[in-house]
Amino acid sequence: MEEKQLLIDNEWRRAASGATMEIVNPATEEIIGTVASAGPDDLNAAVAAARAALDGPWGRLSARERGRLVRKLGERLLERADEVARLETLHNGKPISESRHIEIPAAAECFEYFGGWSDKVMGETIPVKGNYLTYTLREPLGVVAAIVPWNFPLLLAAWKVAPALACGNTVILKPASQTPLTAIALGEIAIEAGLPPGVLNVLTGPGSKLGQAIVEHPGIDKIAFTGDTNTGKGIMRGAADTLKKITLELGGKSPNIVLADADMEAAIRGATIGIFYGKGEVCAAGSRLLVDKSIKNEFVDKLAARTKKMVPGDPMDPKTRFGAVSSKKQMETVLRYIESGRAEGATLVAGGARADIGTGKGYFVQPTVFADVRPEMTISREEIFGPVLAAIEFGDIDEAVAVANASPYGLAAGIWTRDIKKAHHLARRLQAGTVWINTYNVYDTAAPFGGYKQSGFGREMSAHALEHYTQIKSVWVDLNL
Ligand code: NAD
Repeated sequence: MEEKQLLIDNEWRRAASGATMEIVNPATEEIIGTVASAGPDDLNAAVAAARAALDGPWGRLSARERGRLVRKLGERLLERADEVARLETLHNGKPISESRHIEIPAAAECFEYFGGWSDKVMGETIPVKGNYLTYTLREPLGVVAAIVPWNFPLLLAAWKVAPALACGNTVILKPASQTPLTAIALGEIAIEAGLPPGVLNVLTGPGSKLGQAIVEHPGIDKIAFTGDTNTGKGIMRGAADTLKKITLELGGKSPNIVLADADMEAAIRGATIGIFYGKGEVCAAGSRLLVDKSIKNEFVDKLAARTKKMVPGDPMDPKTRFGAVSSKKQMETVLRYIESGRAEGATLVAGGARADIGTGKGYFVQPTVFADVRPEMTISREEIFGPVLAAIEFGDIDEAVAVANASPYGLAAGIWTRDIKKAHHLARRLQAGTVWINTYNVYDTAAPFGGYKQSGFGREMSAHALEHYTQIKSVWVDLNL
């Protein structure tokens, strides 16, 4: 693969410093390419291009025409889905079936959805006292920087880029260092779709330097960030000096609660999908399984048996359902947490080690389940962001709620019960931005997603996202003759 360059003003450029970064395939440990590593000069050039586009052809387009271009970007992405899915799997390690049939189509749909909103973002007239015509204009924020993590590199970029463009902003997209390839592909597709120069710029580079510089840059109006909670806190501090608007989608330690009357087979399926989909590298992963103690033994036995059948495999094989952990560093983190679970006295009932798919290479970890976990154990409190499930028993609903809510995070929660009253009762009491009842890990572009508590603020997807990419101007006209 040739060196991939930065996209600035619809031109592909090497970094001004000439610096590059290597990209590793986590399933083979091979270097699969290099990308430019942007520095301050490149960032300044991207900001200048993005600002110029706001005042140029992009700013002058009608809302409907803008929406058409955003939808076209989604259509073109779908046409190139095979190739983009391949890149997503190569740099992330997720199964190709997930990239091809879930992530890339969902990203394309996000552009289709928000492109449809462009000409429906409107102001209002307000019945004020006095003889005035008072109305509001809903205007773009300006230059939006989208900083995204490595777990769903393209989808989480789409969640930000699509509404930002639909509302008339311009964008600088910074993918995670490990997974820049699909953001670069999105840049190519934006040009093919006909986006004018400067509207979507893609800068690859390390978060600690480039990310930080983006956060502090006075020419950027908003940061839309998904990533680690501690990084999010740093972004909030870094954005304070220039008072940038920010939205933060951060970590989670989501409880998946199984009541005694649940459909056990469905709940076991839901518990495994909840934690093992995406190798557990899912912010909303149901990483704490709360099970009623009257059914705990049978539930855990069946869950362990099901988990043992999930075998990691070559992510490029269409039959593989469980891929490689995204990086060596992340694999080591996951294995450290597994060790801490053992050391703190939890019972390992499935997995618990690095896996070999027969090649002797790759960052594979067995799907892992711990039982007899107590809420104070490290594996119950901290986000592992890997395929490790902590099963905790509870005595009654009040205890389940107390344990579920005793976390600084509040991203998602699951409830398994046949009792409709208990389900809705629990949904109200759980401190989480999304609650799934008798299902888990389902998403739709039309439904809002985001965190309570330290899982962040702001909502992605749905009409609510539009509020985070626009600002409101009140206009007063004196009508007194
Ligand atoms: P991370 O915070 O390390 O990195 C995320 C992005 O921020 C990357 O592009 C990185 O380069 C950049 N970055 C790093 N340091 C920065 C800094 N100082 N200033 C500016 N940018 C910086 O997170 P990660 O390890 O890539 O992703 C995993 C985390 O993301 C997990 O905590 C997970 O829960 C969270 N996540 C949340 C959601 C959600 O919607 N809430 C979705 C997916 C992932």
